[in-house]
Amino acid sequence: MNVAIIGSGLTGTLAAIYLKKSNADTNVILFEKSADKTLRGIPYSHQLEYQPLNVNTKGMTLFDDNPLHFFNWWKQNHTRYPEFKNIVPKEGDFVQRNIYGDYLTETFENMNQSVSKPVKIVNGEVIDILETGNSDYKIQLADGGIFEADKVLFALGNFPPSDPTFVRTSAIADDPAYISHPWLDNAIDDLPKDASVLFVGAGLTMVDLSVSLKKRGATGKFYVVSRRGLLPRPHAETAPYTLKCVDKKYDTALELFRAIRKEAKEAVSNGIDWRSVIDAIRPYTQTLWLNLPEHEKRRFLSHIRPYWDVLRHRMPQESFRQISGLQESGQMELLAGRICNIKRTSADNLEVTICPRNQTELVKINVSRIINCTGPQSDYRKLNTPLVTNLLNKGWFTTDEQSLGLKTDIKGAIIDTAGNSNRKFYTAGPPCKGTLWECTALRDIRSQLNQLIPVIAN
Ligand SMILES: Cc1cc2nc3c(=O)[nH]c(=O)nc-3n(C[C@H](O)[C@H](O)[C@H](O)COP(=O)(O)OP(=O)(O)OC[C@H]3O[C@@H](n4cnc5c(N)ncnc54)[C@H](O)[C@@H]3O)c2cc1C
Repeated sequence: MNVAIIGSGLTGTLAAIYLKKSNADTNVILFEKSADKTLRGIPYSHQLEYQPLNVNTKGMTLFDDNPLHFFNWWKQNHTRYPEFKNIVPKEGDFVQRNIYGDYLTETFENMNQSVSKPVKIVNGEVIDILETGNSDYKIQLADGGIFEADKVLFALGNFPPSDPTFVRTSAIADDPAYISHPWLDNAIDDLPKDASVLFVGAGLTMVDLSVSLKKRGATGKFYVVSRRGLLPRPHAETAPYTLKCVDKKYDTALELFRAIRKEAKEAVSNGIDWRSVIDAIRPYTQTLWLNLPEHEKRRFLSHIRPYWDVLRHRMPQESFRQISGLQESGQMELLAGRICNIKRTSADNLEVTICPRNQTELVKINVSRIINCTGPQSDYRKLNTPLVTNLLNKGWFTTDEQSLGLKTDIKGAIIDTAGNSNRKFYTAGPPCKGTLWECTALRDIRSQLNQLIPVIAN
């Protein structure tokens, strides 16, 4: 059996490892379009000064049955990294993401050296899948290469953010002062030290970039604007907690959110950290999401998601300390609102007008760069990616009702426009967000692959 895995980020690489463990005879080909992302993907190949994992070493093992696998690797290998040579590794460490990339690559390579039929890695962009007339497929690459496969796992991951409305309605899109793709390795390389920067979006990407700029000696002002002006909350130690609110089925997203908030408040009044309640929801999140009617999922995304995201996707304490320091010194200013106009006033100045949330008076700020940190584009119909466009056009891919990814069943079998899932096309990780909601972090990818790989391997 030939299995093609398209994308060699965390999901594709881990899928290859699990596949070979499950059935060593399977021929696996792993395709990756960006050579520098091979066996790493987007998050774990960056080389920023500051880019910690947002989960500690305990939570970043590649194997459910070996919870200390990453921690033990870190203990054995930290001396290879000059800045961490003299530390005493702890399970609660938030290791740099590019170091995690080394762990992922080495774990794959160790596996691949030990099997009789190693996984073949092909660097090239897959642009289409063709039917052969038999029960298999031809995988077509941009350089003309063709490979055969019986089953295909699309591990396409996160796509760069889309341009917000203000970009499409102003002349900023092609202006070099506008950085549309924040995860490019050189995204902030040419910024003068005194550049004033506007970050659009206040999530973890903004945190990594602003702290990295500060570590490079940046002295310019950092403005951060997001719809509600909320920052991710800091991590803290959590304790196991038994949830009460999940015993019930909820008809509306608001009812569910209120029940969680009530339980968190009660927990706090009993001396329990609210994070223990949020973390205790993780095992139930997918079921809670699956049980919500589509119109309630939509309401969750419009009204509740910003509040949920800052509680769920937290930042390491060190990031919180750094961001608080930037705010206290006045270098960083957080604004709630939306950008309503951008005007270039000189060669190195953009005048940005912000409509603050719940206020009528407009705010004008002057910046020399704008960085789009609004999070991955998940509406596949808006992607300018040949593979996705071709498969949407054939009707072999279709998007989920909320345009959060691809339509799939709960295990990751891809459902086509006719509602069939018999094509032997599968996906895992971020493309499953519409189906499962909670599926982008390693912990969810591991559990998804643990269920999906036996289906693919047999
Ligand atoms: C900045 C950032 C930080 C994160 N930090 C954490 C963290 O600390 N902990 C955590 O658990 N999760 C984190 N996440 C969540 C993240 O979704 C997962 O950890 C994981 O990286 C997802 O891996 P992936 O392989 O699905 O996606 P990606 O890393 O996006 O990899 C997809 C790969 O597919 C390739 N590809 C796409 N299309 C094609 C094609 N047509 N042909 C060939 N190759 C193709 C891409 O080049 C890419 O290398 C983070 C996400 C981001 C964006």
